[in-house]
Amino acid sequence: MNIILMGLPGAGKGTQAERIVKEFNIPHISTGDMFRAAVKDETPLGLEAKSYMDKGLLVPDEVVIGIVRDRLAKDDCAKGFLLDGFPRTVPQAEALTATLHELGREIDYVLNVDVPRDLLIGRLTGRWICPVCGSSYHTLFNPPKAEGVCDKDGGKLYQRDDDKTEVVAQRLDVNIAQTQPLIEYYSGHGVLRTIDGNQDIDGVFADIASLLRG
Ligand code: ADP
Ligand code: ADP
Repeated sequence: MNIILMGLPGAGKGTQAERIVKEFNIPHISTGDMFRAAVKDETPLGLEAKSYMDKGLLVPDEVVIGIVRDRLAKDDCAKGFLLDGFPRTVPQAEALTATLHELGREIDYVLNVDVPRDLLIGRLTGRWICPVCGSSYHTLFNPPKAEGVCDKDGGKLYQRDDDKTEVVAQRLDVNIAQTQPLIEYYSGHGVLRTIDGNQDIDGVFADIASLLRG
């Protein structure tokens, strides 16, 4: 199963991706996670990406397309994959279609997790992340059992720089402007499915799982 998970920042993509990949046994490919790892390791890719990420801007298409193309060519993607945070622009979507075509494959589902904008600011500013496993928590909606500590591995939770209030609104606006043409692109390909993301975490996952099980 070849799946794209779409939705604005804070819609719950990472949270749902963790469950989807466990249930359907496919790799989770998150371009945001890949960039954050590169920034942490101070690779040339990380240094380039950081200047955009810190401002809430998108990394240039050719950079993102290159890393996704390399990742999709790895063996573990042969049985399917879940893309999270990519594509974010129509040129990225077109490049993905072309890359998959070369591999004799195509996207089966684009899951668009839909949450009203005014709820997203609260979700993002309350988000805390585990540096070890990448899991997201929320101070109100999904708190860890012990404050500041990951339930799974005891990692010390941190807040992403781009989740601090000053850049959140800018990030949402950039994403909203980019998302509409993508929705139209995948709607035209007949693979777009809208998921109501304004439910609790279990409710959203139940809808996704029943859709994917067909
Ligand atoms: P994304 O990957 O789309 O940016 P996340 O999965 O990191 O979003 O979720 C953003 C924040 O909202 C996190 O703090 C997460 O714990 C919380 N969250 C995720 N899904 C829900 C939900 N259905 N209801 C309330 N809060 C949620
Ligand atoms: P969010 O949780 O905001 O949806 P991500 O974790 O997916 O954010 O991405 C964090 C940052 O990494 C983005 O603000 C952007 O700078 C960069 N990024 C991630 N994926 C892409 C992409 N497909 N195209 C361009 N930039 C990207």
